[in-house]
Parts: sequence; structure tokens; C-alpha cells
Amino acid sequence: MRLTQYFLPILKETPKEAEIVSHRLMLRAGMIRQQTAGIYSWLPLGKKVLDKICNIVREEQNRAGAIEIMMPTIQSADLWRESGRYDDYGKEMLRIEDRHERDLLYGPTNEEMVTDIFRSYVRSYKDLPLNLYHIQWKFRDEVRPRFGVMRSREFLMKDAYSFDVDYESAKVSYDRMFVAYLRTFERCGLKAIPMRADTGPIGGELSHEFIILASTGESEVFCHRDYLNMAVPSQAVNFADEGELADIVRQWTTPYAATEEMHDETAWNALPEDEKVAARGIEVGHIFHFGTKYSEPMKAVVTGPDGKDTPVFMGSYGIGPSRLIAAIIEASHDENGIIWPKGVAPFDVGLINMKPGDADCDAACEKIYADLQNAGLDVLYDDQDTRAGAKFATMDLIGLPIQIIAGPRGVKAGEVEIKHRATGEREVVPLSDLLNRFA
Ligand code: ATP
Ligand code: MG
Ligand code: MG
Ligand code: MG
Repeated sequence: MRLTQYFLPILKETPKEAEIVSHRLMLRAGMIRQQTAGIYSWLPLGKKVLDKICNIVREEQNRAGAIEIMMPTIQSADLWRESGRYDDYGKEMLRIEDRHERDLLYGPTNEEMVTDIFRSYVRSYKDLPLNLYHIQWKFRDEVRPRFGVMRSREFLMKDAYSFDVDYESAKVSYDRMFVAYLRTFERCGLKAIPMRADTGPIGGELSHEFIILASTGESEVFCHRDYLNMAVPSQAVNFADEGELADIVRQWTTPYAATEEMHDETAWNALPEDEKVAARGIEVGHIFHFGTKYSEPMKAVVTGPDGKDTPVFMGSYGIGPSRLIAAIIEASHDENGIIWPKGVAPFDVGLINMKPGDADCDAACEKIYADLQNAGLDVLYDDQDTRAGAKFATMDLIGLPIQIIAGPRGVKAGEVEIKHRATGEREVVPLSDLLNRFA
């Protein structure tokens, strides 16, 4: 993409309304625009990152055996009356009446709807396990929408729902998602720690929030230092091997880790001081086994091996891709701007032409631009006729992992400069060797 042809509305001033760094940087880098309280448009740079994240989420869900569907944003209130949640959900739910005076709502989550899909088609335990997910916008009328897309009212969520014949097999589905989440967050360049979370009135052990440690996080969290260096399962993990999954989950749930609501002072105080990490955290994902909470009232039953009907055991698994972007920036930035982890960067490379109009410089940049694209890289080419300082500031702000800087003098000598955004390290590279660097 040529910057002269792109839409990248960089802000020079730091927006006053933004309280945390990720919100400031997303506004300044022209990623998002607030349309009304807690509701955002995604501008081209933001949309690219959102798509990258969704693809990682999707790949890892698919790898774990979940199947993608797409449910609507608008739901009928009747489904929620069946589960009893229409009255319970309260003011976070946006309720809508259509022209026929029928009650609708903008979905804050999809347990009811997916349970309805399930009960309409699935009859036998032989069709299980099943895990259906979608990546869809949600609306929650948060009391205090703030921090940009970190806590917005309209936000993107990947929500998966698993169906199993009994508790034991539901636990395997839970483990699958647990492992998929570890991999998803790692691929986004984040260290997410699974922490025991409140299961509410349903009880049980099976709920974990995936938390990113960050000083601007809204929750207080407590965990063992061991989590900071624990190895995340590789791509080779076998999602069909229940034992392997259970081992990984055991490893990742053994040291102490809890959010404030689940914090156990006695267990915590028993830990040596230098092994404790008490910090603030951002919830980026939440997995939950709730058994027959919805299947019972909504009559989603399957015939078991014994020929008897039994309500299906369910779990739900959420990730907020839009919040995740803010969390990544909270975890990865410096005073000059964003530092994208490689897997989620909006472009792979930023190419800076220091002197557009200079025939040699233009020719060298055009060739680099074409070669890199042919090599499969996504390149943002700064071909604008602006000051060097402004070019550098923009590239640093938008945080592409690698910058290639081509100036007239270097090009004459057959070389360009490469700058690594994360380390600031610069090196001069002969033009003839440039492509090899990206092989
Ligand atoms: P929070 O505690 O921050 O209000 P939640 O527990 O209500 O979040 P869940 O119902 O568990 O959220 O939803 C699953 C995921 O959706 C969360 O882990 C988070 O990543 C994302 N999410 C929830 N609410 C918002 C929001 N208002 N803005 C952006 N993302 C959100
Ligand atoms: Mg909430
Ligand atoms: Mg929460
Ligand atoms: Mg939650």
C-alpha cells in the first residue's frame, strides 16, 4: 500500500479524553474513531489488525476442532424468556421493539441462541462432541464504557459453545479450548495467565479467566511467578489426545493464580514472598463450563448410550478480539508509539522513501516495494513528500516491526538502512542482499 493512496488519519495532538496509553495510541495512529459513547468505527489500520487477530483466533479454534458459524446480532426476547435470563440480565442488555411490537435485543452473548440451534438438529450422543463458534459483534450497555475499545459498548467477541453427553467429556472440551487459548494469546504476542474465576451461582471448578498483566488493568490479580516463564504448547499439540490436553491444563492450573473474587488469602500467604506476583490484569478471555444450565430449561436433550434422554452438557468460551488489540498495545509500546508483535502487525514492513522525486531513490523504492510484495510481504510504502522527521515519527507511531529506509546517498552506494522497531537497532544492508533478509 502506498501511503499517498492510503487512508491513515494520524493525529498530531494527544487526545485529551484518552486516559490510557492504548486508547491514546489507537486514536493517534488513526486506528479507531469514536462515533458515540463506547461505539467505534474501525479505520483501515485498525481493521487490518482486527482481521489479523480474528484469523489467529479462527485458526486456533479450528485446530482445536471447533466449527465456525455466524449467528445474528439481533435476537428474539422469547429465547431469553425460555432460559429465564431476559429479566435477570438487567440494564446491560439493549432491548429493542420492532414495528410489530415484538421484543428483540442486541445480543450481549449467545448461549440461548446456540442452544436453540443445537436442539433443533441434534438428537443423539453419537453426534457429540460438538463445538460451534462465531466471531460477531456484541452489545453491552456498560455503565462506564471507557479506555476506548478496552471496555466499549459494542465490541467483537469470539464465542464458542461446546456440547457433550456428560461431565467427563465436557471436561475434555473445556481442556481443548483451554489449550487453544494458550496458543491464541501467545500468537498475539501476549503472555496470558489462566486464573481461577468465579463460577457464580452454578458452582464447580471449571472457569478460568485469561489475564494479561498490565498496570492499567481493571482487576486485581494474584499469581505465582512460575507462570511468567511457562512454555506454551506448540503447534504439534494433539487435540485428539485427551491425556496430553489434561497434562497441559494440569501444568497451567497447578501454581496459584486467582482474580480478586477467587483470591484465597491463606493459600497466598503460604507462598514465599519472592514467588508472588500481585498485579493488575486485563481479562482477554473467559472459559466456562456450566453443564445443563441452559439445556435443561430449553430442553436441549440427546439420547445417551443407554437410550435415555439427557440434557446436554455445555460450556462457553469467549475472547474479545477488539479488547485484545488494546491489551497488546498496553503490553507493547514505548514513548514513540506502538510496537506490534510480528503476528498481528498491520503491515510486515514499512518502506520509507526519504526523497520522493529523486529518480534513483524512487527507482530503488519501487523495486524494493515490488520485490517484497512478490515475496509475499505486506508493505506500507511511505512515498509522501514530507519531512524526514514526520516520516520517522509516523512509522514509529504505527509500530510496524521493520522499517526500510532508503535515502539518495545510500541508494547511490547500493544500500538501504533497516530499523527494527522493537529494539531500535539499525543496520545498513546492501540492496543486493535485502530480499534475503526476508526469506
Ligand atoms: P468484564 O469483566 O471486563 O466486564 P466480562 O467478564 O463481562 O468482562 P465475558 O462475558 O466473560 O466478559 O466475555 C468474554 C470476553 O469478551 C471477555 O473476556 C473480554 O475479552 C470481552 N469483553 C467483554 N466485555 C467487553 C467490553 N465491554 N469491551 C470489550 N471487550 C469485552
Ligand atoms: Mg462485563
Ligand atoms: Mg469479567
Ligand atoms: Mg468474563
